[in-house]
Amino acid sequence: MHVLLVEDDALVASGIVAGLKLHGLTVDHVGTASQADAALATSYFDVCILDLGLPDEDGMALLRRWRNTGQDLPVLVLTARDALNHRVEGLLGGADDYLVKPFDLDELQARLHVLMRRVAGRSTDCIEHGQLTFCASTGQVWLAGKPITLARRELSLLRALLQNPRAILSTEQLCDSVYGFEQNVESNAINVHIYHLRRKLGNNIVETVRGLGYRLGPAQGADR
Ligand code: CA
Repeated sequence: MHVLLVEDDALVASGIVAGLKLHGLTVDHVGTASQADAALATSYFDVCILDLGLPDEDGMALLRRWRNTGQDLPVLVLTARDALNHRVEGLLGGADDYLVKPFDLDELQARLHVLMRRVAGRSTDCIEHGQLTFCASTGQVWLAGKPITLARRELSLLRALLQNPRAILSTEQLCDSVYGFEQNVESNAINVHIYHLRRKLGNNIVETVRGLGYRLGPAQGADR
Protein backbone atom coordinates (compact mmCIF):
# COMPACT_ATOMS: atom_id res chain seq x y z
CA MET A 1 0.00 0.00 0.00
CA HIS A 2 1.45 3.34 -1.07
CA VAL A 3 0.52 6.06 1.40
CA LEU A 4 0.81 9.82 0.89
CA LEU A 5 1.21 11.55 4.26
CA VAL A 6 0.46 15.30 4.23
CA GLU A 7 1.57 16.65 7.60
CA ASP A 8 3.57 19.79 8.38
CA ASP A 9 4.65 18.71 11.88
CA ALA A 10 7.99 16.97 11.24
CA LEU A 11 7.95 15.08 14.54
CA VAL A 12 4.42 13.71 14.10
CA ALA A 13 5.24 12.86 10.48
CA SER A 14 8.43 10.95 11.26
CA GLY A 15 6.57 8.89 13.88
CA ILE A 16 3.83 7.99 11.40
CA VAL A 17 6.33 7.16 8.63
CA ALA A 18 8.39 4.93 10.92
CA GLY A 19 5.32 3.21 12.39
CA LEU A 20 3.65 2.46 9.07
CA LYS A 21 6.90 1.25 7.50
CA LEU A 22 7.17 -1.27 10.31
CA HIS A 23 3.79 -2.56 9.16
CA GLY A 24 5.20 -2.97 5.64
CA LEU A 25 3.51 0.07 4.07
CA THR A 26 5.29 2.40 1.65
CA VAL A 27 4.91 5.96 2.96
CA ASP A 28 5.89 9.23 1.32
CA HIS A 29 5.70 12.40 3.34
CA VAL A 30 5.09 15.98 2.22
CA GLY A 31 4.61 19.03 4.46
CA THR A 32 2.47 21.38 2.39
CA ALA A 33 -0.66 21.35 0.23
CA SER A 34 1.28 22.38 -2.87
CA GLN A 35 3.74 19.51 -2.37
CA ALA A 36 0.75 17.18 -1.98
CA ASP A 37 -0.63 18.40 -5.33
CA ALA A 38 2.76 17.83 -6.93
CA ALA A 39 3.02 14.32 -5.45
CA LEU A 40 -0.45 13.35 -6.74
CA ALA A 41 0.40 14.71 -10.18
CA THR A 42 3.48 12.53 -10.50
CA SER A 43 2.88 9.38 -8.43
CA TYR A 44 0.26 6.72 -7.89
CA PHE A 45 -1.03 6.41 -4.32
CA ASP A 46 -3.53 4.07 -2.69
CA VAL A 47 -4.52 6.29 0.21
CA CYS A 48 -3.78 9.72 1.72
CA ILE A 49 -3.39 10.73 5.37
CA LEU A 50 -4.21 14.44 5.49
CA ASP A 51 -3.53 16.82 8.36
CA LEU A 52 -6.04 19.69 8.36
CA GLY A 53 -3.69 22.40 9.65
CA LEU A 54 -1.24 22.98 6.80
CA PRO A 55 0.89 26.11 6.34
CA ASP A 56 -0.12 27.03 2.78
CA GLU A 57 -3.73 25.89 2.50
CA ASP A 58 -6.40 24.64 4.86
CA GLY A 59 -6.59 20.82 4.61
CA MET A 60 -10.37 20.95 4.16
CA ALA A 61 -10.04 23.41 1.28
CA LEU A 62 -7.42 21.16 -0.29
CA LEU A 63 -9.68 18.12 0.05
CA ARG A 64 -12.68 19.96 -1.45
CA ARG A 65 -10.51 21.10 -4.32
CA TRP A 66 -9.40 17.50 -4.93
CA ARG A 67 -12.96 16.17 -4.88
CA ASN A 68 -14.18 18.98 -7.17
CA THR A 69 -11.56 18.03 -9.73
CA GLY A 70 -12.45 14.32 -9.60
CA GLN A 71 -9.55 13.21 -7.41
CA ASP A 72 -11.09 10.24 -5.61
CA LEU A 73 -8.08 8.95 -3.68
CA PRO A 74 -9.30 7.61 -0.30
CA VAL A 75 -8.44 10.19 2.38
CA LEU A 76 -8.10 9.75 6.12
CA VAL A 77 -8.12 13.14 7.87
CA LEU A 78 -6.07 13.88 10.98
CA THR A 79 -7.65 16.45 13.22
CA ALA A 80 -6.89 18.05 16.60
CA ARG A 81 -8.75 16.85 19.68
CA ASP A 82 -10.73 20.08 20.08
CA ALA A 83 -11.77 20.38 16.44
CA LEU A 84 -14.99 18.38 16.57
CA ASN A 85 -16.64 20.62 13.96
CA HIS A 86 -13.74 19.92 11.68
CA ARG A 87 -14.45 16.23 11.96
CA VAL A 88 -18.04 16.58 10.87
CA GLU A 89 -16.97 18.98 8.17
CA GLY A 90 -14.25 16.55 7.15
CA LEU A 91 -16.62 13.68 6.50
CA LEU A 92 -18.99 15.95 4.63
CA GLY A 93 -16.14 17.42 2.63
CA GLY A 94 -15.13 14.15 1.05
CA ALA A 95 -12.94 12.54 3.71
CA ASP A 96 -13.38 8.77 4.00
CA ASP A 97 -12.36 8.53 7.64
CA TYR A 98 -10.75 10.61 10.38
CA LEU A 99 -8.60 10.17 13.46
CA VAL A 100 -8.26 12.55 16.40
CA LYS A 101 -4.71 13.46 17.46
CA PRO A 102 -2.99 12.04 19.41
CA PHE A 103 -3.73 8.57 18.11
CA ASP A 104 -2.27 5.12 18.30
CA LEU A 105 -0.19 4.03 15.28
CA ASP A 106 -1.72 0.55 15.38
CA GLU A 107 -5.14 2.15 15.11
CA LEU A 108 -3.99 4.31 12.19
CA GLN A 109 -2.73 1.32 10.22
CA ALA A 110 -5.87 -0.68 11.07
CA ARG A 111 -8.04 2.20 9.81
CA LEU A 112 -6.02 2.42 6.59
CA HIS A 113 -6.60 -1.28 5.95
CA VAL A 114 -10.32 -0.98 6.63
CA LEU A 115 -10.43 1.98 4.27
CA MET A 116 -8.65 0.08 1.50
CA ARG A 117 -10.93 -2.88 2.06
CA ARG A 118 -14.03 -0.68 1.83
CA VAL A 119 -12.76 0.92 -1.36
CA ALA A 120 -12.14 -2.54 -2.83
CA GLY A 121 -15.63 -3.64 -1.73
CA ARG A 122 -14.34 -6.44 0.48
CA SER A 123 -15.95 -7.32 3.79
CA THR A 124 -13.09 -9.27 5.34
CA ASP A 125 -9.43 -8.58 5.91
CA CYS A 126 -8.27 -11.55 3.84
CA ILE A 127 -8.18 -11.55 0.07
CA GLU A 128 -8.78 -14.92 -1.58
CA HIS A 129 -7.47 -15.41 -5.08
CA GLY A 130 -7.69 -18.97 -6.33
CA GLN A 131 -5.51 -21.03 -3.99
CA LEU A 132 -3.90 -17.89 -2.62
CA THR A 133 -4.96 -16.23 0.62
CA PHE A 134 -3.51 -12.86 1.56
CA CYS A 135 -4.21 -11.22 4.91
CA ALA A 136 -3.97 -7.47 4.30
CA SER A 137 -3.32 -6.26 7.84
CA THR A 138 -0.67 -8.81 8.81
CA GLY A 139 0.84 -9.43 5.36
CA GLN A 140 0.60 -13.22 5.77
CA VAL A 141 0.32 -15.28 2.61
CA TRP A 142 -0.85 -18.86 2.14
CA LEU A 143 -0.85 -20.93 -1.01
CA ALA A 144 -3.18 -23.94 -0.90
CA GLY A 145 -3.14 -23.62 2.89
CA LYS A 146 0.67 -23.54 3.20
CA PRO A 147 2.30 -20.38 4.58
CA ILE A 148 4.60 -18.65 2.06
CA THR A 149 7.35 -16.27 3.07
CA LEU A 150 7.65 -13.19 0.88
CA ALA A 151 10.24 -10.43 1.12
CA ARG A 152 8.92 -6.96 1.98
CA ARG A 153 9.07 -5.67 -1.62
CA GLU A 154 7.40 -8.82 -2.96
CA LEU A 155 4.63 -8.32 -0.42
CA SER A 156 4.12 -4.69 -1.48
CA LEU A 157 3.94 -5.79 -5.10
CA LEU A 158 1.46 -8.58 -4.38
CA ARG A 159 -0.64 -6.19 -2.30
CA ALA A 160 -0.77 -3.67 -5.17
CA LEU A 161 -1.87 -6.37 -7.63
CA LEU A 162 -4.51 -7.88 -5.31
CA GLN A 163 -5.95 -4.50 -4.41
CA ASN A 164 -6.43 -3.59 -8.08
CA PRO A 165 -7.59 -6.98 -9.40
CA ARG A 166 -8.82 -5.83 -12.80
CA ALA A 167 -6.38 -3.02 -13.47
CA ILE A 168 -3.30 -3.08 -15.65
CA LEU A 169 -0.58 -1.51 -13.54
CA SER A 170 2.35 0.11 -15.31
CA THR A 171 5.90 -0.50 -14.12
CA GLU A 172 5.89 3.13 -12.86
CA GLN A 173 2.74 2.54 -10.80
CA LEU A 174 4.17 -0.65 -9.32
CA CYS A 175 7.44 1.13 -8.61
CA ASP A 176 5.48 3.83 -6.73
CA SER A 177 3.67 1.19 -4.70
CA VAL A 178 6.83 -0.68 -3.81
CA TYR A 179 9.40 2.10 -3.46
CA GLY A 180 7.54 5.40 -3.06
CA PHE A 181 9.83 8.40 -3.57
CA GLU A 182 12.93 6.31 -2.88
CA GLN A 183 15.76 7.24 -5.23
CA ASN A 184 18.19 5.04 -7.16
CA VAL A 185 15.83 2.15 -7.75
CA GLU A 186 17.34 -0.30 -10.26
CA SER A 187 15.45 -0.08 -13.56
CA ASN A 188 14.70 -3.82 -13.58
CA ALA A 189 13.76 -4.00 -9.88
CA ILE A 190 10.06 -4.66 -10.54
CA ASN A 191 10.93 -7.43 -13.03
CA VAL A 192 13.10 -9.07 -10.40
CA HIS A 193 10.33 -8.94 -7.77
CA ILE A 194 7.83 -10.35 -10.27
CA TYR A 195 10.24 -13.17 -11.07
CA HIS A 196 10.37 -14.06 -7.38
CA LEU A 197 6.60 -13.80 -6.96
CA ARG A 198 6.10 -16.20 -9.85
CA ARG A 199 8.71 -18.57 -8.45
CA LYS A 200 6.99 -18.64 -5.04
CA LEU A 201 3.33 -18.39 -6.04
CA GLY A 202 3.22 -19.90 -9.53
CA ASN A 203 3.60 -18.34 -12.98
CA ASN A 204 -0.08 -17.44 -13.23
CA ILE A 205 0.02 -15.06 -10.31
CA VAL A 206 1.08 -12.18 -12.58
CA GLU A 207 0.14 -11.58 -16.21
CA THR A 208 2.42 -9.51 -18.39
CA VAL A 209 0.41 -7.13 -20.59
CA ARG A 210 2.88 -6.36 -23.32
CA GLY A 211 3.72 -2.68 -23.66
CA LEU A 212 1.38 -1.67 -20.82
CA GLY A 213 2.47 -3.35 -17.62
CA TYR A 214 1.22 -6.12 -15.37
CA ARG A 215 -2.06 -7.46 -14.06
CA LEU A 216 -3.12 -9.98 -11.46
CA GLY A 217 -3.37 -13.36 -13.17
CA PRO A 218 -6.56 -15.42 -13.41
CA ALA A 219 -7.86 -16.89 -10.15
CA GLN A 220 -7.38 -20.57 -10.91
CA GLY A 221 -4.00 -20.03 -9.34
CA ALA A 222 -0.87 -22.01 -8.98
CA ASP A 223 0.78 -24.01 -11.73
CA ARG A 224 4.11 -24.57 -10.14
CA1 CA B 1 -0.50 20.71 11.17
